Amino acid sequence: DGLKKHFVSQKGFRKSSKQVVKAVDGVSFDIKPGETFGLVGESGCGKSTTGRMIMQMLEATEGTITFDGQRMDQLSGKELKKARKDFQMIFQDPYASLNPRMTVRDIIAEPLIVHEMETANGIDARVYELLDTVGLPRKVAERYPHEFSGGQRQRIGIARALAVRPKLIIADEPVSALDVSIQSQVLNLLKDLQDEFDLTYLFIAHDLSVVDFISDRIGVMYLGKLVEIGDRESIIQNPQHPYTRALLSAVPVPDPRAKRERIVLEGDLPSPSNPPSGCPFHTRCPFAWDRCASETPQLQTAETTGHTAACHLLDEL
Ligand code: SF4
Ligand code: MG
Repeated sequence: DGLKKHFVSQKGFRKSSKQVVKAVDGVSFDIKPGETFGLVGESGCGKSTTGRMIMQMLEATEGTITFDGQRMDQLSGKELKKARKDFQMIFQDPYASLNPRMTVRDIIAEPLIVHEMETANGIDARVYELLDTVGLPRKVAERYPHEFSGGQRQRIGIARALAVRPKLIIADEPVSALDVSIQSQVLNLLKDLQDEFDLTYLFIAHDLSVVDFISDRIGVMYLGKLVEIGDRESIIQNPQHPYTRALLSAVPVPDPRAKRERIVLEGDLPSPSNPPSGCPFHTRCPFAWDRCASETPQLQTAETTGHTAACHLLDEL
């Protein structure tokens, strides 16, 4: 609720000139038990930072995170450690997130040991069970991360995340580094695991087609803010925000006759240390007019679709 992360960085060589980078600037949403909430936007829009704040890997500058009715900032260190077991993370680059000097067995067993969840005797059985669950043969337990392909490494990362039986998994670009054919295997595995273990996902990606495939609801981020939130179908069928339309128009359509008008965004993503006035998207929006540069649109529910977007042209496009 109202999450912000502002980083203060030094500008140039003069110690006095500081700049504030508003990586996340007032983001509120909820994730319902058992659903997949997809967070989408260009790189640098604040999606990963949002995920890391929810994971308690990064402290929020402002705002609160409530999990299962419990405010995370009100927990003691010990309580927080216990609560953290309920949420685990899967990373974009499984190679960088797996210790190259540890065997697969030790990598998967580590969270079990940290959270004191298995006896020494129980650990091996649990590691084998997890390898079965993610579709890897048990014999890989004695091998090292570099011996595996990207898709296999992501399966190891998923097994590690599942080890402590979490409720929420935050997956940060989990398939972006993989070949397209492998992407769908990993996405289908994540879907199967969700059904099997009643998991809730926060799924972060820059690729709207991936988010469309896996999500129940979608939040679109631009420059540290949520600009559109709603049910997957509503957003994909009836995007309200011009930025969402642009993201969607870049997704290839399987049927060439179903031509979609392509919206090409002009210019680069503005710097989050110097965001545009008014609507943060106005410098690139093909529909922008005077009002957009002076007045910031708030998130509002569109009458035509029932989902929420922040644009002065709500219901009009
Ligand atoms: Fe575009 Fe204006 Fe809507 Fe912003 S408020 S998205 S600039 S039309
Ligand atoms: Mg990221």
